[in-house]
Amino acid sequence: MTTVGILGGGQLARMMVLAGAPLGLRFVVFDPAADACAGQLAPLQVGAFDDLDALAEFAGKVDVVTFDFENVPAASARWLAERKPVFPNPAALAVAQDRLSEKTLFRELGIPLPPFADIRSRDELAAKVAGFGTPCILKTRRLGYDGKGQFRIRGAADVDAAWQALGAQVETTGLILEGFVAFDREVSVVAVRGRDGEFRAWPLTGNWHVDGVLSASLAPAVATAAQHDTAIAYARRVAEHLDYVGVFALELFCRGDELLANEMAPRVHNSGHWTSDGAETSQFENHLRAVLGLPLGDTRVLGRACMLNWIGAMPDADAVLAEPAGHWHDYGKQPREGRKVGHANLRADDAGALADALERIGNALGRQAQVEPVVRALRG
Ligand code: AMP
Repeated sequence: MTTVGILGGGQLARMMVLAGAPLGLRFVVFDPAADACAGQLAPLQVGAFDDLDALAEFAGKVDVVTFDFENVPAASARWLAERKPVFPNPAALAVAQDRLSEKTLFRELGIPLPPFADIRSRDELAAKVAGFGTPCILKTRRLGYDGKGQFRIRGAADVDAAWQALGAQVETTGLILEGFVAFDREVSVVAVRGRDGEFRAWPLTGNWHVDGVLSASLAPAVATAAQHDTAIAYARRVAEHLDYVGVFALELFCRGDELLANEMAPRVHNSGHWTSDGAETSQFENHLRAVLGLPLGDTRVLGRACMLNWIGAMPDADAVLAEPAGHWHDYGKQPREGRKVGHANLRADDAGALADALERIGNALGRQAQVEPVVRALRG
């Protein structure tokens, strides 16, 4: 009996637990919060991610360690890796935790991306904003997620406001300035690499964000075959360089024919949630197969698949459950503004049928705005 330890006990851990049960796996999840939602399905150890006594106890209970949360201190990941196999490896985790290191790596690997600069002072910010032109975006290097820790600079006059908003974090999280990409679309590659180096990617996924938070995903994305191949080749380059093991996501902006990298997530990813019901093998199952050294499963999409995120509170399930291929995912969380509490997956054999299903759901739930861009992409 193999026990997988997961650092972080949120919905990603919860979905890994669900995917791991048929493989005969046991789990222990580790999280600072006593009500972490994966704890409803697997033993939860409550502890701080930098508490070495708690981590030693955790290491004693598990055979292999992985992550649901990418901001586990890299030092804790390294400490655990001296005691148990840890995938992805702590060095890869450390690169992906820091926007500056990941963007520097993308540049070294020849992956196109918007201009960026490490920012250490207000004067440096003003100088770089003048150099990049506006709009541009000031972000924290670390610990930002879902559009948090970001300030959009629309004109030179915003420099002071940006510094006021984020300048205090220059010593803690660090700051990075990025050129703004007026993208046509956002896409992501969700991919997996096994312990033996085998690499597989799910089809390119199209993503729509609202206020920096993922709202909907569609697979396969509307993209040219060249974009599809190029994006997956970039993901492979990154994974091989980092000797990455497990699932990760590479988020990209499409501008015309161009693809520009935004960031990578060193874990299963929200833009891969559709794979639970729309692919031969889900990202959660393949992540577990990878970290355990098992053969990887097929990543092909079964027709067309879409994911709708539920933020803040769960809507009524009936409209989704009434669809022939509508699947409900409730994370068992308390409602809270801005919180990801669940999602729905829809699948259909062709684009028209999926668009019809989305329209029915959008109308039933009063969420026409959420489904509309996906319907438009499907109807071409
Ligand atoms: P991030 O946390 O970097 O993934 O940013 C969240 C969202 O903000 C992205 O998915 C984009 O919609 C938007 N965004 C972030 N960086 C940029 C950029 N450099 N140019 C344009 N939009 C961006």
